[in-house]
Amino acid sequence: MHCLDCHSQGVASPALGVCRGCGAAVCANHARVTTYQVHRRPLLAPPSETPARSVRCFPCAAADGR
Ligand SMILES: [Zn+2]
Ligand SMILES: [Zn+2]
Repeated sequence: MHCLDCHSQGVASPALGVCRGCGAAVCANHARVTTYQVHRRPLLAPPSETPARSVRCFPCAAADGR
């Protein structure tokens, strides 16, 4: 799979991620990786926060306002 944004510029770059918003494949230069905290509430343990990750292309990241 190749990066969609590079492809539209006539460049074939291998993709290393998939946008969570639109499903487009993105390369390292076009991926916007954000980290967010997931709150977990196990029944018998105290609540904890786990860092999670999401990959977006630039248009989707801009639409999200992040
Ligand atoms: Zn790219
Ligand atoms: Zn996208």
